[in-house]
Amino acid sequence: MSDCIFCKIISGEIPSKKVYEDDRVLAFHDINPTAPVHILVIPKEHITSLAEVKDEQLELIGYVHGVIRNIAKDLGLVNGFRVVNNCGLDGGQEVKHLHFHLLGGKKLTWPAG
Ligand code: AMP
Ligand code: ZN
Repeated sequence: MSDCIFCKIISGEIPSKKVYEDDRVLAFHDINPTAPVHILVIPKEHITSLAEVKDEQLELIGYVHGVIRNIAKDLGLVNGFRVVNNCGLDGGQEVKHLHFHLLGGKKLTWPAG
């Protein structure tokens, strides 16, 4: 997707502070963090949103969550963390490339509005 900012981050056209990368997944620091730890974890394959995930891509979604678990462990988030996916208009999704926010490093408030 040539006009997708996260695809441009994957290609290196837009710089990012990478946390983890393999052939399927990229994780990088959110440019506007809302918690001491705020990392975005994305599949390299362009998927518009969770609502658009195909059945054959569900294994990839599980794989992404394994990466999230590993990053949380590596960063020492032993007291817990939160994973957020904003989906679509009502979900407040701004970037139309599937991404999961990994938030932690403080006691997070709940519920979200
Ligand atoms: P969402 O509202 O769930 O679509 O979240 C999009 C997130 O992407 C926001 O938290 C932004 O701060 C973040 N973001 C946008 N552009 C960049 C960028 N170039 N590098 C890192 N994070 C970004
Ligand atoms: Zn994309």
